[in-house]
Amino acid sequence: MKPGTNASGISNCFNILRIQCYGTMKKHLWRCHVCNDIHLGIKGPEVCPTCGARNAFARSDMNEALKIIGEGEDVTSKEQIIDIWEEFIRGKEFTLNKERHVVETLASGVLENQKNHGLRFCPCRITTGDLEKDLKLVCPCNFPAQKIYKEESECWCSLFVKR
Ligand code: SF4
Repeated sequence: MKPGTNASGISNCFNILRIQCYGTMKKHLWRCHVCNDIHLGIKGPEVCPTCGARNAFARSDMNEALKIIGEGEDVTSKEQIIDIWEEFIRGKEFTLNKERHVVETLASGVLENQKNHGLRFCPCRITTGDLEKDLKLVCPCNFPAQKIYKEESECWCSLFVKR
C-alpha cells in the first residue's frame, strides 16, 4: 500500500444514490428488462451486451440495481474475492502480487468496504460520494489505463503487477 493512502477507505458512499450531473449530460442507471443487465450511461445500450435484446433498457435506480446485483452469489470470503481476481488475470499481461499476505490483506479491505459501503471499493483509495467517480474505484478498477501502472507496472495498491 502506498504512503498517504487510507487502508480502510471509504466514507459517504451511500451518497452514491445521488447521480452526478455534468454539463447538460446526465448519466443514469438502466436495466435490461429481458435479462436484468445493469448499465450506467446517458442512455441504455441499443443492444443488450448480455442477452442481445434490442431497445430493452428501462431507467433504473441504485436501490433496484443493488437488489439485482445482490441476487447473485454472495461473495463473503477472502478466498472468493481472490478467485475472482485469479479469473480476471487469466490471459492478461498482469498477475497478482506474488506476496500472498499482500493479496489477502487487500481482499479483506475490499470485503470490508462491501460490508460497510455496499460495493467492493478499492481498499487504498477514498471514495468521494459521487457515483460517477466512485464507480471507478470498484476493484478491479481500470488500472492498466492509469499513469501509475504505466510507470511502475503495478496498480495503485500493488495488487496487480505486470508479469
Ligand atoms: S485494481 Fe484498482 S481498485 Fe483494485 S486494488 Fe488495485 S488500484 Fe485498487
